[in-house]
Amino acid sequence: MTEKFTGSFTQQEPIPEDGINAALDVLRHGRLHRYNNAAGEYGEAALLEQEFAAQVGAKYCLAVASGGYAMCTAMRAVGVKHGDQVLTNAFTLAPVPGAIAAVGAEPIYVEVTEDLVIDLDDLADKAAMADVLLLSHMRGHICDMDRLMQIAQDHNLTVIEDCAHTMGASWNGVPSGRFGTFACYSTQTYKHVNSGEGGLLISDDPDAMARAIILSGSYMLYERHLAAPPAEAFDQIRYETPNISGRMDNLRAAILRPQLRDLSVQAARWNALYHAVEDGLRDVPGLTLLHRPDKEAFVASSFQFLLVDWTPDAVQDVVARCLARGVELKWFGGAEPTAFTSRYDSWRYAPVPKLPRTDRVLQGILDMRLPLTFSTDDCALIARIIRSEVSAVYQSQT
Ligand SMILES: *Cc1c(COP(=O)(O)O)cnc(C)c1O
Repeated sequence: MTEKFTGSFTQQEPIPEDGINAALDVLRHGRLHRYNNAAGEYGEAALLEQEFAAQVGAKYCLAVASGGYAMCTAMRAVGVKHGDQVLTNAFTLAPVPGAIAAVGAEPIYVEVTEDLVIDLDDLADKAAMADVLLLSHMRGHICDMDRLMQIAQDHNLTVIEDCAHTMGASWNGVPSGRFGTFACYSTQTYKHVNSGEGGLLISDDPDAMARAIILSGSYMLYERHLAAPPAEAFDQIRYETPNISGRMDNLRAAILRPQLRDLSVQAARWNALYHAVEDGLRDVPGLTLLHRPDKEAFVASSFQFLLVDWTPDAVQDVVARCLARGVELKWFGGAEPTAFTSRYDSWRYAPVPKLPRTDRVLQGILDMRLPLTFSTDDCALIARIIRSEVSAVYQSQT
């Protein structure tokens, strides 16, 4: 009998009951705007910022409308201007080059390695070309952050971390997001916590964060924040900084606070799913598993493997066969962007460079989501299906 998987790769868990109750409280009192507070009340958005800053050990935190908005705001706050160039990963998702384009800048893409992290040799070669690196920890893979920060220091590069896939993760015991001047998180439905849409920004830099807060649309109400720099930090900045509204509201914040409290429990569940897939895919001829360094503590919410140097037809055959058995794999090697799998050469509003090492890796990457609605048994079944279809196509080729 051929096994089939019948679960949904896009179905997340429900919002926890305490999140639902907190949301109902906000709906009942009606003060959804973050600065609409009753006397003596701190709104949910301010409390969320205070709690997230404490959780990651950052001085300051700002809750905003999306992860993409967080990245734009971080770049503006560190001084990226129209016409500037910003270094970023060639292997990432569309909101990253999109954020660079939104501030009028141009991406310079850095190659990706077979471990799916930024190629640090290529970064060192290109570091002199820009003042800012928007580092995407794409799919939760964290590069050697010690070496990356050394390169940044040597070249005076300001680092902004895109932690959309590394909330709760760390490198050598330091939380992802605590290396750069800013780190940006997304709280939209497909990330580690779910408020539909939303983003978080952290920093230890008082001037940069004061600018970010004014940028986000705080008017002159920044003293109602609980994780903001002291009022003096705003003295000049409040006159010099435009208001580009992108605040988070109290309803989303209410939903997120209980989810953040559960993050480490959820991380362990995600990683159990990841390891169930990984264990099921060991020693499959032609299939390369990714090496995860000891210093990297990741929070999986997706799984990647490589079919290195396979022909496009063979990879597409694997994708089609797996799909016929209910397993949705996304391929980053397709010529046309489909769903979320767009590639650097499909972002044609920006210059498209030649990146041969990245092309070779993208040609072989297969990617799938692992929502927490899956069990480890589901993941073992998914792995059996992938194993048998990869093996069948591989054997037919050789
Ligand atoms: C989701 C995502 C973001 C930000 O996403 P929003 O949808 O704007 O919240 C940023 N970077 C990566 C790699 C992402 O996947």
